[in-house]
Amino acid sequence: MNKPVVASCGCDEDTAALEFTTARNKILGTVVRVEGEERVPLHVALQRRLAWDVCSPHAVPGYDNSAMDGYALHAVDAVKGTCLPCVGASLAGHPYDRAVGVGECVRIMTGAVMPDGADCVVMQERVTVNGDSIILQRQALPGDHVRYAGEDLQAGSIALPAGCHLGPAQLGMLASLGFAEVVVRRRPRVVILSTGDELCGLGQQLGPGMIYDSNRHTLFGLLQTCGVELIDMGIVADDLGQTRQAFAAAAGQADMVITTAGVSVGDADYVKQVLSELGEVGFWKIAIKPGKPLAFGNIGGAVFFGLPGNPVSTMVSFHQFVRPALLKMSGGEVGQSLRFQATSLMDIVRSPGRMEFQRGILTQDDSGCLQVVSTGNQSSGVLSSMGKGNCFIVLPASSHGVKVGQTVLVEPFAENLFAGGNV
Ligand code: AMP
Ligand code: MG
Repeated sequence: MNKPVVASCGCDEDTAALEFTTARNKILGTVVRVEGEERVPLHVALQRRLAWDVCSPHAVPGYDNSAMDGYALHAVDAVKGTCLPCVGASLAGHPYDRAVGVGECVRIMTGAVMPDGADCVVMQERVTVNGDSIILQRQALPGDHVRYAGEDLQAGSIALPAGCHLGPAQLGMLASLGFAEVVVRRRPRVVILSTGDELCGLGQQLGPGMIYDSNRHTLFGLLQTCGVELIDMGIVADDLGQTRQAFAAAAGQADMVITTAGVSVGDADYVKQVLSELGEVGFWKIAIKPGKPLAFGNIGGAVFFGLPGNPVSTMVSFHQFVRPALLKMSGGEVGQSLRFQATSLMDIVRSPGRMEFQRGILTQDDSGCLQVVSTGNQSSGVLSSMGKGNCFIVLPASSHGVKVGQTVLVEPFAENLFAGGNV
């Protein structure tokens, strides 16, 4: 069937809709950090946040040591052509137990303790070995190739502050201080559920007019990168009673409830009604594309996000509103999303009206300049645009489109920053 051609004013403005920044600020002004902490083994602490400052019980490194394989000696001896007898060795885990005298050297390996007396290390590539002696090929200075005690962390200093997000580097730092366990903040408990009579669970036979429930799986993936405790309540039918029951049960066990679909003005859209019965509704329309309808509010102590059903809208709303809210609830500092300027390698057609989050593929040219192309079809139902893309092309409400060669703002998808992917 051919698509009907619809006359349009070309403008997409809705004066009742909230501006993006207003909406985001309202959300961030409402949510609060969840209370509670727990002690967990270090190996399961990835993505958690410290409940308390962690002070360093000792210096790191704990002793002066060598940064190179070579010879430890007195810098006063380190003159080109000098011949020094090698009187012993300091290996990692096996320090040399005497002092190095002037006119001597000690063989030393990376990480091994600097012997008393020695104040520099000469790399083995910079000496000529002559039996049990070495001949220096060039001059060295005090401190050369020495890693000093406390150079990384001083004993008693704050190694990591309360609220710090634990990534691989932080886990390593805590391990270097000898902590096998760590006290972390409680993770926000998040319930997800999908609404819609057309939704079919995976593994079931699709009936006429049915679709598989993809949103819940997308949310599942997104939430894995947010350090939350996740409860999946499955699919709820477009039915007032069942929606009431499900929302009440969800709110009873969560810090945040995230639903998808049923937030528009359709005949079977019950989210708003039930939210206003059981709790409070924040607002409904945000001047962004995609992702215009959004139910934000609370049911008792649980923050409620009713995300739009279209799969791309779900993801855009999650990135722009849910993720920062979760960050604040987890005890993190919420800043502006990282956005960069990139050259558009193609025309982007659009009409002014709503701020838009198009999906793009961000790369860099040989000189490191960022460049972006559109993923193609920008319909809010085309989830493959998120799959192909690695960034949003953020277009202001006033934009009349973009010409090839113009600069646009791009925002890499946050999950790519975790994946260490192609941005
Ligand atoms: P609604 O907001 O209920 O009008 O839904 C908007 C669009 O999103 C419709 O095309 C739905 O079929 C689709 N949709 C709703 N829920 C899901 C879901 N869980 N997974 C995939 N698509 C969905
Ligand atoms: Mg629906």
